Amino acid sequence: MFPYEYALIWKLLYVNIDLGIFGIPCNSLISNSLIAVITPNVLAIIFSIAVSAIAMGILCYPLFVKWQRDRLMAQQFPKSCLSIIESNISIYRSLTSEQQKELQGYVQVFLKEKQFIGCLGLQITEEIEVTIAAIACLLLFSDRKTYFPNLRSILVYPTAYIVNEMVMNSYVVEERRVARLGESWTKDQLVLSWEQVQQDILNWHDGHNVVLHEFAHQLDQEDGKAEGVPILPRAMDYAAWAKVMTAEYLQLCDRVENGNKTVMNSYGATNPAEFFAVATETFFEKPKQLNQKHQDLYELLQRYYRLDPQQWQN
Ligand SMILES: [Zn+2]
Repeated sequence: MFPYEYALIWKLLYVNIDLGIFGIPCNSLISNSLIAVITPNVLAIIFSIAVSAIAMGILCYPLFVKWQRDRLMAQQFPKSCLSIIESNISIYRSLTSEQQKELQGYVQVFLKEKQFIGCLGLQITEEIEVTIAAIACLLLFSDRKTYFPNLRSILVYPTAYIVNEMVMNSYVVEERRVARLGESWTKDQLVLSWEQVQQDILNWHDGHNVVLHEFAHQLDQEDGKAEGVPILPRAMDYAAWAKVMTAEYLQLCDRVENGNKTVMNSYGATNPAEFFAVATETFFEKPKQLNQKHQDLYELLQRYYRLDPQQWQN
């Protein structure tokens, strides 16, 4: 319960004591009064107030969040943030002025709701926060605008980081140390290498972008499962998604297995979740090639992200 709810209950008890409703002398000790007034009736009142307050909180919380987000969206975008976006996100200038304004709003909400944590001594700067936020928010132009609800913290390492990984090798499970550039967890955290983010922003056309990749995983994991299917706007959208994604995924697996050239990075053939993340990177960074070779996939992602990167001049 919130402090003001405790205050409300106390006030009720105090008023009742003071009015002598429960037959308690006003000059009794508080502890005695309290013991005396905790009758089934009072407990029922306290219980109903607490339940009402909790219900009210649950009902009002989404409205409060929406109000706060609308307020942040409407705020003046700081010049320092704009200058970082203009210098680090080359495709920003290709967005329409309405889209730029919308992106600025998403970034303000994102920066308010997520926390950045520097790892291995990395000092989090405004450049790190705004650059990562702006790239991640490119994925929020859809109608849902849920701002990666499972995510609270973004852990940023200065370079690639080392983790211990269990690997199944000919019926033997081995532990090995591997370098990672990023990872997305179903709950709470996402990890990035700042060095990799910097490399990615220098080249928007190689089909590799660790921020787009890991935040696409966040969209996929929003329902608690990583299977290459984010939450879609309408029930009828899932059939089209399954049809196109399955065909494209199997085609990529086939081409990778046979050593053929592919528009998408071969890592997309790992599993459907990685396919969606890699397809997202390719959609934003190699849109023309993707549309040319995989039109159905491009159009599916264009409908989902409500953007057409093919039209961007950069
Ligand atoms: Zn991945």
